[in-house]
Amino acid sequence: MPEAFPLAGRGTRPDDLVVAVGGLRLGAAGLVVAAGPCAVEGEETFLRTAQAVKAAGAHILRGGAFKPRTSPYSFQGLGREGLRLLGLARRRTGLPVITEVLDPRDVGEVAAAADVLQVGARNMQNFPLLKELGRAGKPVLLKRAQGATIEEWLLAAEYVLDSGNENVVLCERGHRLPGEGERRALDLGAVSLVRELSRLPVFVDPSHAAGRRGLVEANALAAAAAGARGLLVEVHENPDAALSDGAHSLRLEEFQALMGRLGRLAAALDGGLAAPPA
Ligand code: PEP
Ligand code: MN
Repeated sequence: MPEAFPLAGRGTRPDDLVVAVGGLRLGAAGLVVAAGPCAVEGEETFLRTAQAVKAAGAHILRGGAFKPRTSPYSFQGLGREGLRLLGLARRRTGLPVITEVLDPRDVGEVAAAADVLQVGARNMQNFPLLKELGRAGKPVLLKRAQGATIEEWLLAAEYVLDSGNENVVLCERGHRLPGEGERRALDLGAVSLVRELSRLPVFVDPSHAAGRRGLVEANALAAAAAGARGLLVEVHENPDAALSDGAHSLRLEEFQALMGRLGRLAAALDGGLAAPPA
């Protein structure tokens, strides 16, 4: 790997970076689970789902307000109204919230509403966005683009770090497999490799890699076993009616069962599940 990573790498600072989010310590021992729907779809359904994932033990609430969709005719998210609902759900549940930001012009507004700003796989090398996030004042979760090398991913993180934001979390989410439809190859070897090369916390999204619900649990358990410090899981109270990514969204009871298994696995490995946010 020819390029150096002066800020993301372990060269000058060998200690693990710990990112503080609402009383949680991302990157420290203790598995952190972020869960919620792909998109915030409406007040009642989002608040019900938020309470349910909290009751199941999730530490962070996810929900997209600005959605990157392959088709311009698909649901694009509720935008500002979605940000408002994230704030409402955060007040009702006490959970910190993570949401995606697509456009550099929205960074200020999204940073005011969310605790963690997600950069989607499609935007991993959107350099103007990464630079703007350097000035956001909130932690950033940087997804790995499909097919991106580890070097490209860590250099994308360098953009955010070098622009002034020292709180970056990495997230592996799977890579296209020819002929496999929506199923993706989840690169779990990357978790160990990146933890060796970099001080940044590494999360895994077991949901987008699965493409269908039945594969999410295995991906999640394998990611925890591979050393991921956290997971980003899509959950929907009625996946058949979801406006995006219903096919791989877990039902509430499936998420509850997954949390039970993750708790037992994490306890056997190292650190258990993280304590709930303060
Ligand atoms: C998402 O988390 O809903 C999402 C769009 O993820 P990705 O950028 O990994 O496709
Ligand atoms: Mn999604």
